[in-house]
Amino acid sequence: MTGKHLQMVEELNFLLLEGIEVATKEGSTRIYFTLGLLLGDNEALNNASGFMEDPNATIYCRLCKMRKQENQKNCPLRDEFMRTPQQYVTDGFQNQKQTGVKENSIWNLVLVFHVVKNFCQDIAHDLLEGVCKYGMQHILYYLICSSNKILSLDELNAKLKSFNYEKNGFSNRPPLLRYDEINKKKKLHMSESEMHTFILIFPMLVEDIVEGGINIENEIWQYFSVLRQIMDICFAKSLRTELIDILDSLVNQHHNLYLKLFNDPLKLKFHNMKHYSLVIKMSGPLSHLNLLRFESKHRELKAIAISTTSRINPCHTIAVKEQLRLCHCLLGKHGLPPKFELGHGYNLECASLSTHFNITQDALSIDKFSGPWLDVKWVDINGIDYNIGSVVVLDVNPDGFLEFGKILNILANEDQHVLFIYEKLVAQSFNEEIHAYEIVNSNQITFSLAENLLSPFLAIHHYLSDGRDIVSLRHAV
Ligand SMILES: [Zn+2]
Repeated sequence: MTGKHLQMVEELNFLLLEGIEVATKEGSTRIYFTLGLLLGDNEALNNASGFMEDPNATIYCRLCKMRKQENQKNCPLRDEFMRTPQQYVTDGFQNQKQTGVKENSIWNLVLVFHVVKNFCQDIAHDLLEGVCKYGMQHILYYLICSSNKILSLDELNAKLKSFNYEKNGFSNRPPLLRYDEINKKKKLHMSESEMHTFILIFPMLVEDIVEGGINIENEIWQYFSVLRQIMDICFAKSLRTELIDILDSLVNQHHNLYLKLFNDPLKLKFHNMKHYSLVIKMSGPLSHLNLLRFESKHRELKAIAISTTSRINPCHTIAVKEQLRLCHCLLGKHGLPPKFELGHGYNLECASLSTHFNITQDALSIDKFSGPWLDVKWVDINGIDYNIGSVVVLDVNPDGFLEFGKILNILANEDQHVLFIYEKLVAQSFNEEIHAYEIVNSNQITFSLAENLLSPFLAIHHYLSDGRDIVSLRHAV
């Protein structure tokens, strides 16, 4: 504990008790702040919260005192093992191997905050970097290397190579797989984002064996299906409460199948998943706690470190440059402007729109539709790349089926309003084996503003080998 740390605690407490005065158009307002969550990966949070940092420690979890041996066998969580602020204090005086508490964290001096009530889990490292990699290693080994040899690696790599990533808005395409990393069950060489893409498209790559050789009764595929359902819930931007309860039983099912099929003890990251439903109830959807955004921020700092020639005190250099950047934002009064980029296109007169695209004049009379318009090939809105041919989620129809739209034209005006013109696709059934909707073209042309979509995220569109049209969601909506 240093003087600087104490100063930080004092400032946080000052913000809570005294607040700051902010001048607004309506007059002066006092705003009070409270520390809600500490975010970080497992090691960083354990360090900051005074817990054991070694993932092999007998008791490692920040939220409960379940032992490593129990976690490896998927023993159920027990209420009496959940940590409390009172117990944390007494635990600190005992043998740290028995309690997992190393020291009293300075964060506990922040008012209305305690590290054992810091309901945060990191899905980027737990799932993408951990559980997904372990699970996919085993699945690929079973499909490619075991005596079954159901799948050829060359075929899988050919499909990985030819998948239409651009149309589906994937900027991180997974690398081709190597036989030695699968045969020796080494950790797959993929970044977190590449692993996410791989899991999302995997059923489409192996659709012929899933519907042929491996069927839904096969437990290996059942395992993948459960993992994929967990991912859908964990990466959702908003959640219905019933999905939170389903998550608990899915995690339990996932762990039991993993133990049964792969004869591999559960690691620490598997245990963290057992707290996911509690964390969602206390802190909201896990995708909002995802550390990938923070890791992206590291890139800016790394760029500063690389671009400076001084090696005297790189941390100081980075801190000064980062503060200058922040000052520039504050003085220029531009915080985080929404990202908006357009591809090349040609001008369209507003009057010609209705005839050109068969849009009713009523629609064009909306203020936001005023011209001149640009007919473009792609648009990037807040990091989501919409292309001609991309599929988006439009709505839920009165029968409860999702409606999708395949983008035919993208129109944008000077006010950065974007109008998509679609071919409407209707989901007919959900194919559980491929984890995707089978869709039919309604032969209906429709349109809507980008801001009115049911979900701004692109759906994943793919043609199966027999010509069927399928669409899968990136996460639950
Ligand atoms: Zn725990």
